[in-house]
Amino acid sequence: MIIMETGATQEQIDRVIAEIKKYGLRADVSKGEFRSVIGLVGDERQVDFARLATLPGVKEAIGVETPYKLISREYAKLSEEVSEHGVIKVGNIKIGGGEPIFIAGPCAVESKEQLFRIAEGIKRAGAHILRGGIFKPRSSVHSFQGLGANGREEAREALEWLCEAGRKFEMPVITEVRGETHVDLVAEYVDVIQIGARNMYDQDLLASVGKKGKPILFKRHFGAGIEEFLSFAEYIAAEGNRHIILCERGIIPVGKGKSYTRYTLDLAAIPAMQKETYLPIIADPSHGTGRRDLIFSMSCAAIAAGASGLMIEVHYNPEEAIVDAKQMITPDELKVVIDTCQRIHRQIS
Ligand code: PEP
Ligand code: MN
Repeated sequence: MIIMETGATQEQIDRVIAEIKKYGLRADVSKGEFRSVIGLVGDERQVDFARLATLPGVKEAIGVETPYKLISREYAKLSEEVSEHGVIKVGNIKIGGGEPIFIAGPCAVESKEQLFRIAEGIKRAGAHILRGGIFKPRSSVHSFQGLGANGREEAREALEWLCEAGRKFEMPVITEVRGETHVDLVAEYVDVIQIGARNMYDQDLLASVGKKGKPILFKRHFGAGIEEFLSFAEYIAAEGNRHIILCERGIIPVGKGKSYTRYTLDLAAIPAMQKETYLPIIADPSHGTGRRDLIFSMSCAAIAAGASGLMIEVHYNPEEAIVDAKQMITPDELKVVIDTCQRIHRQIS
């Protein structure tokens, strides 16, 4: 990281950027109110930091060891501009630092009628953002893959329903991209782009969504350690996009025999990650447990652990859902979750 002097000129900043580029690296510039900080993106082994420190306008040039420096609290401390990214704005909604935000909706968009009925229900329950999967990651090729799998036009139609429902019930919308071929299409429509757990490691996908500049909901892979998760979030940040919402959605249960939960929701990861990064962190108790009877307790626990929000799968008739029926709750149940979580949040803040 290159820390510029207070009042360094644009010319001096450009000179530093040019020097960084000579090493084949990219520069991430954070312009604070008083000073600018430049983060180096790429392999720093060849960099002569001592020489960079002698350039006009440079206060200090320091090597940073962590693999996720751009999203680190350390970087945020150096530049006031970066710290603002701890709050992510989606329409009128602010995620991070304030009231918890609730993202809800069906696992998969199945029809216009199903989507609108659920959207109306979650709005009534107090949710803020509407979710609905159009490209579904599934374990079997023989399962329903989402309406997006039926072709480009069907995908577009489902995206239009999602936006229409969002407009009608005044909620921003989010859906998942499962591959690079979905990115342009999805980015045309949604307010937030979701990267699912299975794609956490796809660095090309992360770079291409990062380039879109839209807020990203980034889910932890069920086998990823915390440092690994944050290191892959850095691939999005390296494209100049720090509008990243991290999502804890459970890791693989350990031991033999029945685990009784679909995944193990790693709630300690929430405060642990908050010490490392300024990015807001939400939890997904639906995929984290796979059980509707555990959603209430784990939602309360996640908010108590400091989550900035929750993502919960909802259906007016859970048994009827084609995907993830066992973990769906009803809009009425969602309302109880939201009301209780808001009370818990008030108690702890
Ligand atoms: C989802 O949120 O629709 C989903 C598939 O979750 P995950 O990627 O966490 O499995
Ligand atoms: Mn699901």
